[in-house]
Amino acid sequence: MKFFNTFTRRKEEFTSLEAGKVKMYTCGPTVYDYAHIGNYRTYMFEDLLRRYLKYKGYAVTQVMNITDVDDKTIRNSREQGIPLGQYTKKYTESFFEDLDTLGIERAEYYPRATECVPEMIAIIEDLVEKEYGYQSDDGSVYYNIAKFAEYGKLAHIKVDELQSGARVSQDEYSKEAAADFALWKAWNEDDGDVAWESPFGKGRPGWHIECSAMSMKHLGQMLDIHTGGVDNIFPHHEDEIAQSEAHTGKKFVQYWLHSEHLIVENRKMSKSLGNFFTLRDLLDKGYNGEQIRYLLISSHYRQQLNFTFQGLDAAKASLNRIRDFMIRLEEVESSGESEKVGELIEATHQRFVESLDDDLNISGALGSVFEMIHEINRMLETGSVGKEDAAKTISFMRDIDAVLGILPGTGRAAEIDSEAIKLAQQRVQARKEKNWGLADELRDKIAAMGYVVEDTPNGPRVKKK
Ligand code: AMP
Ligand code: ZN
Repeated sequence: MKFFNTFTRRKEEFTSLEAGKVKMYTCGPTVYDYAHIGNYRTYMFEDLLRRYLKYKGYAVTQVMNITDVDDKTIRNSREQGIPLGQYTKKYTESFFEDLDTLGIERAEYYPRATECVPEMIAIIEDLVEKEYGYQSDDGSVYYNIAKFAEYGKLAHIKVDELQSGARVSQDEYSKEAAADFALWKAWNEDDGDVAWESPFGKGRPGWHIECSAMSMKHLGQMLDIHTGGVDNIFPHHEDEIAQSEAHTGKKFVQYWLHSEHLIVENRKMSKSLGNFFTLRDLLDKGYNGEQIRYLLISSHYRQQLNFTFQGLDAAKASLNRIRDFMIRLEEVESSGESEKVGELIEATHQRFVESLDDDLNISGALGSVFEMIHEINRMLETGSVGKEDAAKTISFMRDIDAVLGILPGTGRAAEIDSEAIKLAQQRVQARKEKNWGLADELRDKIAAMGYVVEDTPNGPRVKKK
């Protein structure tokens, strides 16, 4: 299995630090607003990576941080006059809802920056002691990039090209403005009541130290994989390396994987350009989470993905094709087993794995699945697929769906009238309110439409009678 390592700019064979285990850190959302689907492209790539590593038999421990204190969260909460914790809670909750809508598997840990400040302070103290960190006149603590000889090794920039002694206090800045960056920001009026006490005085952590501390807290000093969008390479990940390696003296990350951006008319989808759609925007237009998932997952992570509604409609059509195929397989009645289907499945499986082994070549993987669908559909038309063949194909599709995550609710569920689902949800509410009469009435209505409701721990499931 090979991945393109941003650090070496080459595809490299993957070997984990500890056999059979992968420690993976993924930079999570800054919860200052609803995430847009560009952000979700990156989280989707990480989901594919995670699922595929698991498919290959690795025990994955993934940490995704929640940045709930930084320049942007403070600015917005202050503008709206809402306490920071209350402000970020709303967007953190909506983030988790979106993950579920998109079928993104949960990471093992979601540390909140505000809950890890003591760990950050401890690293900063050590950096100051080792003279990588220094306190400036205004009380903030900066990282002296000139002291870390390898500074720039991830982003491939040279430190002597930089202005020595210059400082940058904002969390985000460009390569051209590379300078000593803030580890600890001394409190000022713009921060309002957001502050922690520290040996360097009252203040708050810089964004970059948050990820160094939160990754090491749960994964130790050396990680197998660290991911993010390409915009994270500089300064964020470069600064994480400088902080972590100066602190531990060890190689922080073995494989850096970065996904390309979702773009709109040749520009990165972003809040600041205003060219974005949130997940909610697309749901309101009638698309569902699985269709959006399919769109985001189906092109290679190192290629820019141009967002268009035609593209989303094409994703919807591909997904429908897969679902129709599953329904046709479920409907096969005559018994029988052919060698051909077994061979097709085996060849498809081989190509699926070979493609994904090659730096997650999803197009190759999906291509092999669609070719198989095409072949088996032709056989279905001539009635040469028996029940046993169909069962084998269904089980193969479910097996690879552990990686793709596009099948839940397949088959007959896909045909269920949304009205019936709505009634089932109203019935849950009625039951909550102990309005049994209404609950029964709703169940009868659903039954009259040809469905039954099953109550499961995950809520009601509507099935065809
Ligand atoms: P942020 O909340 O801005 O820190 O971004 C969270 C994640 O989304 C980071 O890993 C970014 O690299 C990623 N990201 C932001 N915009 C896009 C985009 N247009 N396409 C893909 N990933 C993005
Ligand atoms: Zn990060």
